[in-house]
Amino acid sequence: MDNRERVFNFSAGPSMLPLDVMESIAGSLTNYAGSGQSVMEMSHRSKEFEAIMNDAETNLRELLGIPENYKVMFLQGGATLQFSMVALNLLRKTKKADYVVTGAWAKKAAQEAAKFGDIRIAATSEQSTFTYIPTVKREDFRGDADYVHITFNNTIYGTHYPYVPDTGDVPLVCDMSSCILSEEIDVSRYGLIYAGAQKNVGPAGVTLAIMREDLLGFAPKSTPTYLDYKIHADNGSMYNTPPCFAIFVAGEVFKKIKREGGVAALEKANNEKAKKLYDFIDGSAMFRCPVAEKDRSLMNVVFVTGDEGLDKKFTQTAKAEGLYNLAGHRSIGGMRASIYNAMPMAGIDKLIGFMKEFEVENRGQA
Ligand SMILES: *Cc1c(COP(=O)(O)O)cnc(C)c1O
Repeated sequence: MDNRERVFNFSAGPSMLPLDVMESIAGSLTNYAGSGQSVMEMSHRSKEFEAIMNDAETNLRELLGIPENYKVMFLQGGATLQFSMVALNLLRKTKKADYVVTGAWAKKAAQEAAKFGDIRIAATSEQSTFTYIPTVKREDFRGDADYVHITFNNTIYGTHYPYVPDTGDVPLVCDMSSCILSEEIDVSRYGLIYAGAQKNVGPAGVTLAIMREDLLGFAPKSTPTYLDYKIHADNGSMYNTPPCFAIFVAGEVFKKIKREGGVAALEKANNEKAKKLYDFIDGSAMFRCPVAEKDRSLMNVVFVTGDEGLDKKFTQTAKAEGLYNLAGHRSIGGMRASIYNAMPMAGIDKLIGFMKEFEVENRGQA
């Protein structure tokens, strides 16, 4: 392959970014908007960077329809640090929280929270290798829980909630790392939404948190300053040096989404991409999707041949064709095509074309 040619990268994250965004950034990499400096070099207190930060927040608010009574924070530490920040800040009365465990990340979130309080698993699909999303109702949660935690899109297992659980007055906390900005959401249903950026938003290094204001300010006195949401909310994510460049790139992605019809347009495109791939898999004699149909993810499409050796051959030969990172997560094997916002339909078409050829060439081996 020509080494200047870009590949289709199906990685679960970090993942593809929009090419036009990267090209426009490259154009101003050493001299941003006539400032004489790169965004990488600039003071986070400079007027240029303050404008970058304000625009990023304003555009994200507009894209997701974030109500006035929610704070937007740009944090570090990934979704993983949110697992403990959530518990530290939100176990504020009874120290009880209920978790729905729908995958490895959900399980990690619950395990981390258990260091700080009384954590109960309200429902899990672990007994069937997380191939579906359990149906949970208000009665499944403790009425005096400080919060309920869910993982909206399960990156490793390729599932996604087909509904938003009703938790009554108990705040709902949601990890949206692998689906934020891929579909329209009603932010007002949640007490807190968080998402690492490196899947659908921008480069690794920044984590978004969207939090209802009345939930701020309950972290115990012993909480490390950085881990108190209120510190970040009160300081506009500038209490300390924020991940400036990652925020800048995310902000450029937000502008692009706005220019191109907002989240609704992305949702439509994502539905079309995913449908095409699932339809092909469902019609294939070699490939199979192990996930319950109603719970299938639009972002992470998991499939298998049923033969480990053949799966391996698939991901290796695909790579030679410029279709990268199609191996499933190391914990479950098989294949996974992560088709986030920045994956074009051309990538889906090329993948399907390759799958067809592979099927013909390897018929009788599965
Ligand atoms: C990737 C991922 C995480 C972990 O994110 P980090 O930013 O690496 O900490 C957590 N939750 C979900 C749903 C993910 O997809």
